[in-house]
Amino acid sequence: MSSLVPRTALADGTLMDVLGYGVYKVPPDDTEELCSTALDVGYRLLDTAALYGNEAGVGAAARRYLETGTREDLFITSKVWNADHGYEATLRAFDASMELLGLDQLDLYLIHWPCPSKDLYVDTWRALERLRADGRVRSIGVSNFQEAHLERLLAETGVAPVLNQVELHPYLQQSGLRSFHERHGITTQAWSPLGRGNVLVDPEIGRIAAELGRTPAQVILRWHYQHDVLTIPKASSRERISSNLDIFGFTLDDAHLSALDALDRDQRFGSHPDTVG
Ligand code: NDP
Repeated sequence: MSSLVPRTALADGTLMDVLGYGVYKVPPDDTEELCSTALDVGYRLLDTAALYGNEAGVGAAARRYLETGTREDLFITSKVWNADHGYEATLRAFDASMELLGLDQLDLYLIHWPCPSKDLYVDTWRALERLRADGRVRSIGVSNFQEAHLERLLAETGVAPVLNQVELHPYLQQSGLRSFHERHGITTQAWSPLGRGNVLVDPEIGRIAAELGRTPAQVILRWHYQHDVLTIPKASSRERISSNLDIFGFTLDDAHLSALDALDRDQRFGSHPDTVG
């Protein structure tokens, strides 16, 4: 069965699901089962990272899916961790991730954080370019990059990432960065799209959810979708995993969108990119 989730074309032509299952803080022992649940209810994109320590579980679920499904239907993302910045270290880190995943090719590889204090993200980016040229990964991108980091990659390598994965939810809407992405053909993907659960209790979101007969999570994920922002919500029960995917059968009208847009307050629930290194 192909995906229930619409796909969007990245700047390099790769088609990518607009919504996937994120596994940060999913315990390694539970990862295969929860990813298999996600695949069973219709997800096809799994978002992991070397840091999460659960690539083996993601790979096991992907390989279980491939017993009956096709590789083209799946989309697997992983990320190079901060300790592995630099050209050679990144190539080694990629090999280690692929070994754990047990796959021949990755769909998307991201630089997890720019780590400006290390000042190695340009070399790291050149390693990603090499991996793409060698056909080991289909698309390459970044995460937590701010405008200045993206400008520098463009100036020094001439190659723009196809995607930047950043914290983005109704309380942190990143409008300046999103405009920059639009100008440079960079797809925006939101991490912590539900603000780690904190935004779910917002009264205005609760009001809209009640009006539409939807959950607060569905309203938030639909808001992202209507703003062309990709999402990778994490959840730990079959019911939540499944209901978070059910956002393609209703529409937020202009009044709903304006009310949600008005919630922006520059509030992060994760780290600021300047402080991670
Ligand atoms: P999310 O915004 O996805 O929120 C997850 C939290 O919301 C969990 O506590 C979950 O609870 C709860 N939740 C999910 N769905 C529902 C629902 N329908 N009803 C009620 N509660 C719900 O936060 P994450 O930080 O996990 O971000 C998502 C993904 O983004 C990560 O898993 C990871 O893949 C990626 N990420 C990337 C980062 C980066 O630096 N690139 C940084 C952080 C995350 P429960 O689990 O108990 O069901």
